[in-house]
Formats: sequence, structure tokens, C-alpha cells
Amino acid sequence: MIRISDIIDKVSEHNPEADIDIIDRAYIYSARVHDGQIRLSGEPYLSHPLEVAGILADMKLDGVSIAAGLLHDVIEDTHSTVEEIKEIFGQEIVHIVSGVTKISALPFDSSQAARQAESIRKMILAMADDIRVILIKLADRLHNMRTLQYHKESKRKRIAQETLDIYAPLAARLGIYWIKNELEDISFKYLYPEEYSNIERLISKDREESDKYIEKVKDFIKKKLDEDNLKCEILGRYKDIFSIYQKMIKQNLTFEEVYDIIAFRIILDTVSDCYKALGLIHSMWKPVPQKIKDYIASPKPNMYQALHTTVIGPFGERIEIQIRTWDMDKVAKAGIAAHWSYKEGKRIDESISKKFAWIQNLVENQANFRNPDEFLENVRIDLFPDEIYVFTPHGEIKSLSRGATPVDFAYQIHTEVGNQCTGAKVNGRIVPLKHELQTGNIVEIITTKNHHPSRDWLNFVKTVKARSRIRQWIKTQEKDRSITLGREMCEKAFRKYRLNFNELLKSEDMDRVIEHFGFKTADDLITSVGYGKITPLQIIRKIVPKPETEEDHESIFNKIIGRVRKKKPRAGVIVKGVDDILIKFGKCCQPVPGDAITGYITIGHGVTVHRTSCINALKMNPERQIDIEWNKDVTETYPVKICVSSLDRVGLLADIAANISKSGANILNAKTETRENRVVDSFFTLAVEDIEHLDRVLSAIKKVKLVHDVKRVDH
Ligand code: MN
Repeated sequence: MIRISDIIDKVSEHNPEADIDIIDRAYIYSARVHDGQIRLSGEPYLSHPLEVAGILADMKLDGVSIAAGLLHDVIEDTHSTVEEIKEIFGQEIVHIVSGVTKISALPFDSSQAARQAESIRKMILAMADDIRVILIKLADRLHNMRTLQYHKESKRKRIAQETLDIYAPLAARLGIYWIKNELEDISFKYLYPEEYSNIERLISKDREESDKYIEKVKDFIKKKLDEDNLKCEILGRYKDIFSIYQKMIKQNLTFEEVYDIIAFRIILDTVSDCYKALGLIHSMWKPVPQKIKDYIASPKPNMYQALHTTVIGPFGERIEIQIRTWDMDKVAKAGIAAHWSYKEGKRIDESISKKFAWIQNLVENQANFRNPDEFLENVRIDLFPDEIYVFTPHGEIKSLSRGATPVDFAYQIHTEVGNQCTGAKVNGRIVPLKHELQTGNIVEIITTKNHHPSRDWLNFVKTVKARSRIRQWIKTQEKDRSITLGREMCEKAFRKYRLNFNELLKSEDMDRVIEHFGFKTADDLITSVGYGKITPLQIIRKIVPKPETEEDHESIFNKIIGRVRKKKPRAGVIVKGVDDILIKFGKCCQPVPGDAITGYITIGHGVTVHRTSCINALKMNPERQIDIEWNKDVTETYPVKICVSSLDRVGLLADIAANISKSGANILNAKTETRENRVVDSFFTLAVEDIEHLDRVLSAIKKVKLVHDVKRVDH
């Protein structure tokens, strides 16, 4: 078992100024609360946090990380509380420890792990707003894998599979290849024990011969590079068992056919030395085409840099060679951690850090960090700022836009679930439908048969899918309503002429009418009557050009047409899905652009616009309600009534009128009423462009002497 003094030695060695005190205190606390707990291995539980801290020290992390590593299991596995940790160790450590605890508590469904691996990885990254949370989680998993033999076999396999699917790729993503490789090898050993021992046996079979071979190749390279005075270190190593196995599976090879069991690495001082070395190797041994990769010029997203080549070696065999500088070697080994390992007061190279494509924004925001500590403190990853990840009750992960609500989630599951959604539970608790979901939430939707979407939902849904499905539903609804309404209106009007509308529908006459108005089907025609675009009488006129009681009807017709003509459609309002509709504004509430509005289909007179708060609108039949919005492209003026309360004085009205016209509004009507105590209420009807214009006018009036109240009033 590693001792705390070993860990402190490691930390002090690479950073003499590290905060040893906090490590000490975390150790003492952890030892106290874990006291009496035993690992499956029979060792005291404390061995686990100590080993985890040791791994973090090897990664050259800061004192806070090491302390958090020592404490990583105390909230989950002991009687310690978040409050206690916060009081003793402060906000930063409690934040990291809680982050690790939260990830450990995520209800991943292992049967879905393989299929949902990428979502799970993203979810973990999204939940860890401090990258140290993930590094501790990786160290934790690594030590648990190293001691996996103490678990039951079924559990071993499950944990190994999860490690292979989730944690090894996470380590790779962060560029920490040594952890990735070790996690893969241990997982492989437990998942495929036969294949593992087979490859292990084959490697060790001619180990002596291979060792000699490695020395020979190293000598060749050394001699060649010496000719050009290139200072270098050459390493030959056996590849990891899992990567050999993967190659065998992917390329359907036997062990003997896998040529690159051994890989060579040349480490040099400068980038130009690397390219020189590559040239020298190629002049000595023929390179295999398509096997040359220049990751120096184009680094991998996790910042890995090196030149890769495969050549035909001295004995006709293929040799895989990586060439890189010492700095690149450090990054390749430590990944993201290399960027805050301590470099004796040297600043981190900002340009290098920027190459982390996926933390680029973050690094740019931290452009002026002075030292590794400061950088580390500010590394708050938010890798997927626009997405959140939540669970279904069955443990399936769904990704949604940030700010998404249970309604968005419901539509993500299925349109029907969305349409019939009446309530939601998050982590078992009932929440409002507009509740904002967070990554890690378990979301359950309550549906009720025959329930319908509400247009209010459009005010809070965040996903395109939910929005379009709700709109679609409303539109279909409106169309259905308009058809019913249109049919009703036609039947009634036709009856007045002793005509049977439904009979006539099947006639050729009606086909002609449909064509005349530019529609394809009778339903389209009837719908447009329902919307008020055309009147039943217009249809009747097409079918019966000269009605029997010509004069009477002609006059009625002219009256109606006349009324329609007088009230030319105003384009200030758009009815969704319908063009060119007759629009009237409610006199009761005098809507102006900027007000929330709603429309009502009136029989034969198109759509009346009301403010959604209007008492008359609230009383109207919801069946006739229709979605409308202001047309922002049209500038019109609209009447609106206001009341100005003031003390009476000479010149008052003139001053108010002057301020109104100064702010660009016309007065359509004015009236005053005197109350007791010299108080005067002046009522004006103004023509304003929109609600902002109205606000400007109101504040202009407020400036008039002795005016104490100005407000908009309903008619
Ligand atoms: Mn642990």
C-alpha cells in the first residue's frame, strides 16, 4: 500500500510550492471517516483513496486534486456530508468531490451501455464542470480495475465492459494514453481471458529473440542519426495486448501476421530534428505508402503530436516508428494533464493550449493566465455548452438543447407522447411543464388520452422538434375548425337562396367555382370561407348569377360586398398559414404592435384581433380562436386610449398636447373630467405605431408639471 509520505514526496518533487497542508488534512480526515471499512481485497478501505491520490500525483496534478482524490469516496461511502466537507476543506474541494460523487451515482443501464456509450461519455463530460472531476474519476476507475480480481466473475465482466466502452475512450479523448491502454488491457483480460493469455504467451515465447531484435534495430537507427549529429533517444516497446488483439480482429490476421508487435519511438530536441530523422530513416529503409502520418503539422484534437511511419526493416519486416520532441512526448503521455504539470515557473505555452479544439473557447477566455495554478483553477470545462443529457425512466439517455423542458423531452420520445403530455416528474418529483431540465435528470412524462397540446407551450419549448409539432397540431386544428365553420356558413347562406349546399358540392357548377377561386378541392374552398377569406355569397353569385329575387338579394349582396370593400384588409397582422384575410381590430381593447394578441374567427367578417388580456376575448368561444402575430414589416398607426391624471392648472392641456405631438403621436380624440380637489382626468385617443412608441409618449406626458399619473385604459 502506498503511503501518504510517498505521495507527498512525489508532489513536492515536481512542485516544491504545492499545498502539502491540504493533502495532509485530507489524508487524516479520510483515514478517520473510512476507519473500519474494508475493501474486497481485505485491505483497509483507505488503501483505495491513497492509490487514487498516488495516480493523480503521477499525473503531476495540484494539491487540491490530490486532496480531492483522497476524499473522493467520503460523501458516497461514509457518514460525511457535503456541508462538513465544505466547512473543513472549502468550496473548491467540495465542488470536485461532489462532482465525482454525482457521476458515480448516475443510473447508467449496463445493458444499454454499449449502444449509448457516446451519450454516456458526453453526459459525464457535461456534468463535470471541472476537468479534475474526470481525472479523479479516471484514477478511481484505474485503481478499481487493478483490483478487479476480488469481485465476482459476473460483476468483473460488467465493470470491464463498462470500462472498455466508457472510460478508456474518455481517457483517449483527454489524451491520457497510458491510462487508456492500461484500462483496455485489464478490461480485455477479464472479458476475453483466453485470447488475452494466448497473446501474452505468444509475446513472451520469443521474448529473448525479440529483445535482441529491438537492440539491433535501435543500433541501426542510432548509427544513422549519429551520422547527422542528431541527438536522440530511441525506445523499443511491445505494443499493448489489446491493440494487438484489435488488429488481429479488424484485419483478420493471425498473431504471426501482426507485424507491429513492437513499436519504436525516437525522441529528439526540436521539430526540425524530427523531420530530419524521418528523412534519414526513409533513406535507410523503404517507407510503406499511406503509412506516413504527420501529426506535427496536423495535431489530433487532443493535441497529440508526432510523425508516424512504417518502413520495411533490415530483415524485410515492417517496423512502426513514431518520431517526436520531448515536449510532444510529455503531451502524448499525460494528455491534457501535461498542460498544468508544473514547469519550474515556466509559463504554459498559450499557442499550444489553443490547439485543444474542444476546450478552445475556454482557453481563449483564459488568455492571460499567469501560472499553471491559475490555469488549473480556471479550467471549467463546458464541452457541450448547447446540450444537456437526461435519462428516460428506463435509463436511456436523450440529448436536448440547453434550457429544454419536459415538453421538449416528451416530443423527443414521440409526437403522441408530446401531444398528450399533461405533467412531468423529474427525479421522482412533479414539476411544471416549463421546468428547465438539467443534465443527469431522470424525466418521466405523464400523459392523458385525448389531451391536446396547448399554444402556451410555444412560449417555453426550446427544441425545433417540439415547436414544429405543436405548430403543426394547432394548424391542423385550425383547419378542421375552419372547415366546420365554413361548411356551417355556406349551408346557412345557401338555404336563404333555397339551395342545398351539400348537393351542389358534387355538381360541375361547383367545380367551376373552385377553379375560379384558385382552389384545388372543395375542402380548400370551404376552409377559406371559414377563415373569412371569401364569403358564401361570393360562391352563390358564381353558381346562381341571376337569383330569382334579384333585387332583394342584389342589394344584400352589394351591402355586404360594400362593407367588405370599405374594410380593406390591414396587413399589420399576420394570420398564421393564411394570407389575405380580412382583419378587424377589437375596439374594446385597442391592440397595438407589441401587445400579446389573439384572433377570433367571426362569421363572415374574417378575424377580429384582441389583446390576450381583453375581457371580451376571454369570454369568446375558444373553438373560434386562431393564432395570429404582428407583421413586423408593416408600419401603421393604431388608436389607443390613455388617461392622464393631474391637478388642474392654466395651460395644462396645451402642455400635454405639445408633449404628445413632440413624441410623434397624433391625437384622435380628447375629453376631460374633473374630480374633487381640483383633480382632472384627461382622456386622449392617440394614434401610435407600437407599444414602444406608446411608452415614449406616456413618459413624455409624465414630464408635464402637476401630472401625477398616466396610464393606458381599455375603451
Ligand atoms: Mn473510489
